[in-house]
Amino acid sequence: YGSAKITKVLREEKVPTASWLNFTRYGTFAHIFEGKPDSKRYEWTISVHNRQSTVSFKSKKKVRKPESEWFRVENTHEPIIDKEVFYRVQEQIKSRRRQTKEKATPIFAGLVKCADCGWSMRFATNKANKTPYSYYACSYYGQFGKGTCSMHYIRYDVLYQAVLERLQY
Ligand SMILES: [Zn+2]
Repeated sequence: YGSAKITKVLREEKVPTASWLNFTRYGTFAHIFEGKPDSKRYEWTISVHNRQSTVSFKSKKKVRKPESEWFRVENTHEPIIDKEVFYRVQEQIKSRRRQTKEKATPIFAGLVKCADCGWSMRFATNKANKTPYSYYACSYYGQFGKGTCSMHYIRYDVLYQAVLERLQY
């Protein structure tokens, strides 16, 4: 499964989040959990805890935090896969990413978010069309289908033109 699907399963099966465990062990994240409904304990998100923070309260811009500041909660459960396999797969994922980047460079990678659900937009190319074209589509809808979000969609060339015009303006 991809991370979106995993997030969904963790929520459905009410698996406590790492920050909830840290709160019960050390009292950290009290501002998140104290006086909040139990459902907070299972609110897994696709982003990993404390990897990002906002620049200021006025801005929604996210910045990546140094790895040393990420929250890690270890030994919360039996390992599903052993460490060796885990790291080998991580390497494979990295090399796969590099490959796709070489083939096409969608310049908005990581920047395009769905206006309705806030998830990232998935980049894809319609090769079935006589003239293949690329587009971004809501990845939340793509993962979970009808009733979750909508099939929000924008062609790459349309978005490119709109951003270019805005910059020139
Ligand atoms: Zn969406």
